[in-house]
Amino acid sequence: MDKKVLVFATGNQHKVQEVSQILGDIYEIKSLKDIGCTDDIPETGLTFEENAFQKASYLNKKYGYDCMAEDSGLVVDGLNGEPGIYSARYAGPQRDDEENLHKVLKELGENPVRSARYKSVIALISNGKTFYFDGKVEGEILNKKVGKGGFGYDPIFQPKGYKISFAQMDSEEKNKISHRGEAVEKLVKFLKSKKN
Ligand code: IMP
Repeated sequence: MDKKVLVFATGNQHKVQEVSQILGDIYEIKSLKDIGCTDDIPETGLTFEENAFQKASYLNKKYGYDCMAEDSGLVVDGLNGEPGIYSARYAGPQRDDEENLHKVLKELGENPVRSARYKSVIALISNGKTFYFDGKVEGEILNKKVGKGGFGYDPIFQPKGYKISFAQMDSEEKNKISHRGEAVEKLVKFLKSKKN
C-alpha cells in the first residue's frame, strides 16, 4: 500500500530528516522543497499555536496534503516573555541568530532574573482535523555565549539541572530534553497510535 504523504512546513531539511527517521515506515514525509513550495508563508499570529496552525493550514488549503508545522521560541521572564513568538526576528527582519542572541544579552543586562524556557508547538492537520502537540524546556540565560553547537539562542541557554549550555550538547542529547523533542515525541505517539 502507498504510504500517506505528510508535508512538514519547514525549510529545514535537517528537521525533515529527523522526523522521517522516526515516522518513515508509516508516512512519506515531504518538505516545502519536495512539494515545490517557495511561498513566503504568512506568520502573523500572536501565539505559537496560531502561527503553527497558520503555516499548516496555508499548505493544507493550497496543496491538499495532510500537513504539520512547528512554531517555537525562547520565553525570557526578565524580558516579560520576550522574544517569544518573535524569536527568529527579534533583532530585525534579517533573522540573524547572532544579532538576536546579543539583543537578549543586552536587554537583560545585569538583571538577576535569568529564568527562561524554550517552547514548541506543532499543529497537525490530518483528514480536515487539527491537533496540537507542545513541549518546553526550562532553563536560564547565561551572561555570555558558551559552546559552538546548536543554533539560535543555544549558546546562552543552560537547561535546568545541567552545567552546560545547549550549544555544548550534541544534537542527540539536546533532542532528548528539548522543547521540540518533546513535541515531536507526542506527535509520533499520536500518529503511530492512529495507524494501529
Ligand atoms: P520559527 O522557525 O518561526 O519557529 O522560529 C523559531 C526561532 O526560535 C528560531 O529562529 C530561534 O531563534 C528560536 N529557537 C527555537 N528553537 C530553538 C532551539 O532549539 N535552539 C535555539 N533557538 C531556538
